[in-house]
Amino acid sequence: MSIDLNLSLSENFRLKEAIASQTASRLGINNLPNVEQTACIVKVAQHILQPVRNRFGIPFSPSSWFRCLDLNHQIGSKSTSQHTKGQAVDFEVPGISNLEVAKWLEANLSFDQLILEYWNQDEPNAGWIHCSFIDQSSNRGHAKRFDGKHYLTGLEG
Ligand SMILES: [Zn+2]
Repeated sequence: MSIDLNLSLSENFRLKEAIASQTASRLGINNLPNVEQTACIVKVAQHILQPVRNRFGIPFSPSSWFRCLDLNHQIGSKSTSQHTKGQAVDFEVPGISNLEVAKWLEANLSFDQLILEYWNQDEPNAGWIHCSFIDQSSNRGHAKRFDGKHYLTGLEG
């Protein structure tokens, strides 16, 4: 079975963006989702990434999205990571601070976890945004920030 990497997940996002990984390429890992994982990837595109794209009007491509268990292990992430299910994505919007994007997302979208990764209070564009989506009835709506050592509740404080 061949997989169409140009498959549209939403107006502006394609399947190839969900599976792209320099580490996977380098190590020859076949980072392809199964049907169940693909369904989760589509939800993230439609309920998180596309609304962000529409709101800010700036093209961007996620830095990390789906990670098969092998790839996830290679980059040192826990096997429970929502990236392995296709439910989580890491991204930044060029020219807009991560704090501003995350605050808009928190106020306007349903999400499971929203984390300002490697947050730095003196630098609103430090790190990146991690966001996960399961479905509206299961999403926990937890917003946090991670300073490289600890998780703190909320996007600011
Ligand atoms: Zn992440």
